[in-house]
Amino acid sequence: MLILGSHVSFGPEQLLGATKEALSYGANTFMFYTGAPTNTIRKDINNVYIEEAMSLMKDNDILIENVVCHAPYIVNLANKSDLSKYDFSINFIKKELQRCDAMQIKQMVLHPGSAVGISKEEGLHNIVEALNCILDGTTKCRILLETMAGKGSECGATIEEIAFLVNHTIRKEQIGICLDTCHLHDAGYDMSHFDAYLDALGNLVDLSYIGCIHINDSKNEKASHKDRHANIGKGHIGFSNLITILNNDKLASVPKILETPYIGDTDEAKERIYPPYKYEIEMLRNKEYDEDCFQKIRDSYKKV
Ligand code: FE
Ligand code: FE
Ligand code: ZN
Repeated sequence: MLILGSHVSFGPEQLLGATKEALSYGANTFMFYTGAPTNTIRKDINNVYIEEAMSLMKDNDILIENVVCHAPYIVNLANKSDLSKYDFSINFIKKELQRCDAMQIKQMVLHPGSAVGISKEEGLHNIVEALNCILDGTTKCRILLETMAGKGSECGATIEEIAFLVNHTIRKEQIGICLDTCHLHDAGYDMSHFDAYLDALGNLVDLSYIGCIHINDSKNEKASHKDRHANIGKGHIGFSNLITILNNDKLASVPKILETPYIGDTDEAKERIYPPYKYEIEMLRNKEYDEDCFQKIRDSYKKV
């Protein structure tokens, strides 16, 4: 069975709330941030919610091994020009891994970082140094480095950069890769030839490092370096290419996560927005694209 879910919110009930939301979409996995993705303010993890979440997952055949956390994307391990910020980032990620361990979460996605005002090489070396400092043997959760669109000075937009980071991390059992179809397409890789991409990646790093894949369509042309996610079948990658990627044998055991945008009341009005995940998961499982899915999503939420 396809391991397919979406990004969900952590909310006041933390892991329990995230689990409930995932189940409401018919998902058998999910991804969450432990707080806002745009800041590093975090509440303590409440053990009561962990226990309740675990039993709810068990009852509904969600394996905790397939659930992933995502570190906030404002953390930047590539830049060391402000040492206090670099140290703060390192310590924050260490704490985030501790929170994951407490929840028995096995994998955490991390954006490698942006080489602002420095060379790519320097940025990549700073990331490696930070990773080797973070992974000091005191935690268990594995860091998955996400493939990026190459917006601005983002590191990790090419196969070579991602492989460099993985290959230079000392604690191999705690490093991995998260592919993102929108980012790969925006970085210039052809998602209609996904096996060719996997072969090229596999030449530099073992494919067993792939721990998660983000399934998103893209609002822009290939190699646009924009990073704007589109809903499934509504972008430049297209439904059938995403179906092929989703069902690739080499990634059968890898959790697939949707990070597609919420849908507005109408195509223009965005005052009220609705999560698309229940319908997108259904379409992807059935391998059948529904041209009217946006309207059906709106109608289903308006009825409630
Ligand atoms: Fe991400
Ligand atoms: Fe992503
Ligand atoms: Zn993105």
